[in-house]
Amino acid sequence: MVSTLLVVVDGLRATDVQKMPFLTELAQRGVSYRQARSVAPSLTRPAAASLAGGAPPGVTGIAGNRLWADGHLIDTGRPDHLELLRSLRGDRLLPVPTLGEHLADHGRKLVAVGTGSNGCTLLLNPGAVDGHGAAIGARPFGHDAFYARPESVRRRLAGSLPQAGDGPFPELAWATDLIVDYVIPELAPDVLVLWSGELDDVQHGNGVDGPAGDDALSEIDRRLRRLIDRVREQAPHTDVIVTADHGFSNATHTVDVADIESLIPPSLADAVQLVENNGGLLVYARRRLRTTQIDAILDAIMSAEWSGPVFADGDVPGVLPPAGLWSARTAADGLLAYVSLTYHDRLGNPRIGHSVRGGARFAGGHGSTSAADMRIPLVLNGPSFRTAHESPLPADHLDIPPTICRLMGLPVPPSMSGRVLSEAGLLAPGNASALPEDRRVVAERGAADVTTAHFQHLAGRQYFLSADRHRS
Ligand SMILES: [Zn+2]
Repeated sequence: MVSTLLVVVDGLRATDVQKMPFLTELAQRGVSYRQARSVAPSLTRPAAASLAGGAPPGVTGIAGNRLWADGHLIDTGRPDHLELLRSLRGDRLLPVPTLGEHLADHGRKLVAVGTGSNGCTLLLNPGAVDGHGAAIGARPFGHDAFYARPESVRRRLAGSLPQAGDGPFPELAWATDLIVDYVIPELAPDVLVLWSGELDDVQHGNGVDGPAGDDALSEIDRRLRRLIDRVREQAPHTDVIVTADHGFSNATHTVDVADIESLIPPSLADAVQLVENNGGLLVYARRRLRTTQIDAILDAIMSAEWSGPVFADGDVPGVLPPAGLWSARTAADGLLAYVSLTYHDRLGNPRIGHSVRGGARFAGGHGSTSAADMRIPLVLNGPSFRTAHESPLPADHLDIPPTICRLMGLPVPPSMSGRVLSEAGLLAPGNASALPEDRRVVAERGAADVTTAHFQHLAGRQYFLSADRHRS
């Protein structure tokens, strides 16, 4: 019987919850976090992998929607690319045990159903390939083919795909029916994850704060009400956690990777692989580089007008240390730097660029270190949680898997680096009276060019809230 339902609404901003009457009610009757954050970079698949592994992108190695691995450009939205990545990594997609595998070790089951990319759905439960629970890409009417693992689940469903319903977001309606009519009665998961990809699609195309986004918020809210009502008809004691993978922002301009490449010193051009990731840019080394060469590359990027906060190991003015965002392990993957494309220009105007290769243009996006992209909603509602409690404490994706372990009465694997959100719980509101400690890390590139990163510390954890770069 389902005991925990985790719903991830792709691209839902915390400030947009007020436009969703059902989610607002769920928050008011449960616990909501004012300071919940995405992992950094604030991108879809890094968040999915961190929700599965309970570890930051520097540890999961899923640092972008697109990444570079051993000479291959990997689109982590595609299961075939993830299969390649798995083989490059010695037959393990993530280097840490996932929540789905941990549950399987204890005789429990996690099933992930997603209407985002099939790669995203697989990253929520990579062990499904080996028969641990299931991962079902409920996108039979969209541009992806139907996807399900393990093979037995795919075979069971492939012959009986229902028709698309009328109205907007037929996949989400289909996913709800699938969960109620098949997943719960036949697969009997203990933890069910639903990932809704619809809002993200709408906001990339139309931006935020417009009628298209607002219509999508209303529709998803209605769909969530139906899903959660129907799940609780079958399993009345289900604890529900609703969150997002990242926030969202309207793009002010586009940064073409080809233009960035022209900034790299010619002697190093073939040594660098730039991988565009929306409001973020990942810089990889294609070969072993000397420290002075890395610094020359970082200096070229820092000097560009579109460059916001840069996180890297390097002795270059203005660059922030990657500690807290990445682990040292990431350097071994060849990742030199994460460049956020958010900054304030000399007139004080906020700017968020979006990195592209070629002609693609997006009205909105995410992936930067801006508060708009980093901040996410986090709502916990159900018999295990307090009611009518708004928490001022920081929380992020890494805290969700350990919290689910605690809800299931299971130990938290040591590889999961988040904390149990005990202040949200009825039985042990342990951190309820603790106060986070603010910390700001500043890096200057001259007095008129200052990058500031904002962290909070609580219960042994460091939370990354946002970073911005101001030029004056
Ligand atoms: Zn997303």
